[in-house]
Amino acid sequence: MAEYIGSVDQGTTSTRFIIFDHKGQIAGVDQKEHEQIFPKPGWVEHDPVEIWKNTKEVIAGALEKNNISGADIAAIGITNQRESVVVWDKKTGKPYYNAIVWQCTRTHEICRELIKEKGQNRFRDKTGLPVATYFSGPKIKWILDNVPDARKAAENGSALFGTMETWLIWWLTGGPDNGAHVTDVTNASRTLLMDLNTLKWDKEILSTLNIPEKALARIVPSGDPDAWGMTLENGPFKAKIPVCGALGDQQAALVGQTCFKAGEAKNTYGTGCFLLLNTGHTPVPSRQGLITTLAYQFGSNQPVYCLEGSIAIAGALVQWLRDNLGLISNAAEIEELAKTVDDNGGAYFVPAFSGLFAPYWRADARGTITGLTSYVNKGHIARAVLEANAFQAKDIVEAMRKDSGVELSMLKVDGGMVVNDLLMQFQSDILNVPVIRPQVSETTALGAAYAAGLSIGFWSGPDELSKNWAVDKIWSPSMKDHKRAKLYHDWKKAVERTFDWVE
Ligand code: ADP
Repeated sequence: MAEYIGSVDQGTTSTRFIIFDHKGQIAGVDQKEHEQIFPKPGWVEHDPVEIWKNTKEVIAGALEKNNISGADIAAIGITNQRESVVVWDKKTGKPYYNAIVWQCTRTHEICRELIKEKGQNRFRDKTGLPVATYFSGPKIKWILDNVPDARKAAENGSALFGTMETWLIWWLTGGPDNGAHVTDVTNASRTLLMDLNTLKWDKEILSTLNIPEKALARIVPSGDPDAWGMTLENGPFKAKIPVCGALGDQQAALVGQTCFKAGEAKNTYGTGCFLLLNTGHTPVPSRQGLITTLAYQFGSNQPVYCLEGSIAIAGALVQWLRDNLGLISNAAEIEELAKTVDDNGGAYFVPAFSGLFAPYWRADARGTITGLTSYVNKGHIARAVLEANAFQAKDIVEAMRKDSGVELSMLKVDGGMVVNDLLMQFQSDILNVPVIRPQVSETTALGAAYAAGLSIGFWSGPDELSKNWAVDKIWSPSMKDHKRAKLYHDWKKAVERTFDWVE
């Protein structure tokens, strides 16, 4: 049997291909960034053709650099930035429009109308989600309403819609030549169009948004013994390999962190920040502004659900400090700059660049820095930027405690920012629980590999995967209670200052 599983990780800033061995260790990796397109304030797009090209390049690159051939790979899994949407022509594969990225706020008006009619929670019982610009359904509606020919093509079956895993699976399994048009349950659960209980597209919501079902992909389990298709001998793998695993990036990280039991949680600090708590086989409704979503479904097993707190801007704020203010020249420098001071100097940075997601869901919010005095310098700002991530995570943990009654005893972390010691220590201090980083920090790609590997029996089940997980570093809380309370109190005040900005 081939000794590796391949994982395509199509993220917001870059695309990676990672090859994992049986122990869940990395045997090869390649990565390429793609362009962020900002046509107007609040609008974010990606070029889907560039993303498919990069995917082919990183697959070929990782295989070549490590002298691994396609024949050594037993199965392929895919994980992806969620909610971002592409529409393309079934015969040519040509996109009708750039991919509309999850952070994009162009559907503000569409959402406002939906909310005005029947409130922000009109679809919550069925989908687990509030109406918000974040989710894919309103983005699909925007394309149908605004891109010439898109609606006609969707109605006559010549246009296909998909999130990024759907787009890549279609190309990997043949593209115009019979490529599979599928979406996994976790990605489908982010559209605002899928019923959480039946795991089917909801006809009533489709009709409210005027979206033709025939343009949507078939919903499949996240790990599927009935592979959706095979890669092509003349494709980037130069071999036929089953494509049989797909998970949205945050659910993939939950699986990669082996949070298989109800009550286990992980937090991923990437472009955004996403805290997911496994709630077992029952979807737990949220009253605290979290969302109820699919965690994973392996084969014909019962689906597993989670509560999620989604934060739009985390690492993106570090990038903003680098690219828009030039205060640092690379992301790692923020820690040095933050260490030039002992605390935030009274400054709080609330990065509500595209409104605030969980637990507030305020599309009218915009970013703010509060508490400025002549004392505050760039070191304090750097610290406020890092602390913002930890405070936002604290908001989510508080909401989760109220919703589920689960007291977090520790937090497993991953993502690009967890190399930042100052942030991780502050996170532990503010939450007052240990923060734990695993040895394999590429948990997102690992989770997709696990989904694919479980489908073909490469791994026997979750217990075997849990044995692969090992601790790299633990940060323990050391902050005094009154200091934690004061900092969090001031953060909450700062959050309120962001509301009612967009009228
Ligand atoms: P994604 O998968 O969302 O593309 P990653 O998990 O690769 O993101 O994380 C990248 C993010 O991490 C970037 O936004 C970057 O600003 C941030 N980042 C990287 N290194 C550091 C660091 N040392 N300190 C703080 N932030 C960092």
